[in-house]
Amino acid sequence: MFEKLNSPIEKLNLAPFNQLFVKRDDLIDPYISGNKWRKLKFLLAKAAAEKKNHLVTFGGAFSNHLVATAAAAARAKLKATAFVRGEEVQNEMLLLCKLWGMRLIFVDRIRYRDKRELFDQHFLNDEDAFFIDEGGASAEAVKGCAEIIDELDNHYQHIFCAAGTGTTAAGLLKGLQNFANTQLHVVPVLKDAGFIQPEIEKYTGKSNQLFIHLDYHFGGYAKVNTELITFIKYFVSQTGILVDPVYTAKMFFAIGDLQKKGIIQADDKILALHTGGLLGLMGMKNRF
Ligand SMILES: *Cc1c(COP(=O)(O)O)cnc(C)c1O
Repeated sequence: MFEKLNSPIEKLNLAPFNQLFVKRDDLIDPYISGNKWRKLKFLLAKAAAEKKNHLVTFGGAFSNHLVATAAAAARAKLKATAFVRGEEVQNEMLLLCKLWGMRLIFVDRIRYRDKRELFDQHFLNDEDAFFIDEGGASAEAVKGCAEIIDELDNHYQHIFCAAGTGTTAAGLLKGLQNFANTQLHVVPVLKDAGFIQPEIEKYTGKSNQLFIHLDYHFGGYAKVNTELITFIKYFVSQTGILVDPVYTAKMFFAIGDLQKKGIIQADDKILALHTGGLLGLMGMKNRF
């Protein structure tokens, strides 16, 4: 499942940019999507090496990571359990998880905070159980995301990615250590994402290649406003490339806005990482 990989780099014809490219990690797989594929690759290898056949992980009710883990587990004939944050709900994402055989355990927000504790409570004596942190955050995930840089044929001045936990950004930064002239621009989608810089540097050490843009969260995680919805409609109709409102739309919006502010130039050579997650659109169908 992790051998063949389809993630072409495409040039976008989008004014005013002359050299804006997208790495289409969204095309890797519809369900084990984008950076979640990258993050699971070495985690599943580790689980296999340790002969663990039960993946246990964590996420919100619209988590791309849960969908990806459920799909990967079913394909690899592994068991999967997820602790889902908040009260019991049903939605399109959890429907897929259930179809793939993932067991869902809903836990309130307080209990959800301590993931190791939840794992130990339920699975301490389960020798098959393999802990995967929320969003797949781990050294293995960083390693998987660093491979994105190995696939680039060209030199870029700027690389952009959206960030939740910052693990994907850490991987990219790690991969960029031998490309001192490339700047990594990270667009957190959470409000008050000051934690992101130390989180990234935990894996990479301090870097002068890292630029974090804290002002493109649109009110916080999974929050949208009319400006963002209008931008999504424009971007998708102009490029033919779908973006999700939670992550990649905010990243592409940031690229446009930073150009308007003169922080990047329309002629700069820019690569945007499309981290996938398009099922996130399903949770927002009433907003369009
Ligand atoms: C999960 C996700 C991210 C966030 O990745 P982190 O490594 O947690 O920063 C970005 N984009 C999409 C589409 C995602 O699903």
